[in-house]
Amino acid sequence: MVLTMGMRIMSKSIKELHYTYDQKFTRVLVISDSHNHITHAIKVIQSGRYDLVLHLGDIVSDVDDLRCIFPELNIEGVRGNCDFYDTNYPDILIVTINGVKILACHGHQFRVKSGTMLLDEYAKKITAKIALYGHSHQHKLSYEEDITLLNPGSIALPRGGPNPTYGVIEIEKNGVLHSSLQEIKKKK
Ligand SMILES: [Zn+2]
Repeated sequence: MVLTMGMRIMSKSIKELHYTYDQKFTRVLVISDSHNHITHAIKVIQSGRYDLVLHLGDIVSDVDDLRCIFPELNIEGVRGNCDFYDTNYPDILIVTINGVKILACHGHQFRVKSGTMLLDEYAKKITAKIALYGHSHQHKLSYEEDITLLNPGSIALPRGGPNPTYGVIEIEKNGVLHSSLQEIKKKK
């Protein structure tokens, strides 16, 4: 599939998922750029209640390991620029939870290291409420008109500070969205 947005962005696959939960809050854990280091990801998953875990790539096969460790948990992932040969995962995930559309991608295809303009444009086009991206290893939570843009940073190799970071999204039953950035304080 080819997406056209001022420039041509090649994208091999888009996967869409739909969930409806009959509970007050649906909680989504957002992690990225684990690069084969899943120790922190395991701790974060164990320390909270999550309905879904999204891994934004690099290295997306870490999802395979997390699925083995947490077979009961719903864990999905997208391919990053380091996952070129991994054909088990899509490039873009569009997850709809209780009517709220979430765009998840690694972000290299939208050149996020130079800004979130292309990502924002695509999120608007598909009417996503929130766009999740990684790649830079720098956590960031920003807002563009109606769209929330969340980079959870890296769960293993942070560049925006000393501690690994992750994101949490909460979706209320009526579709109200809350998002936050969290950090893992390392013991000295
Ligand atoms: Zn990357």
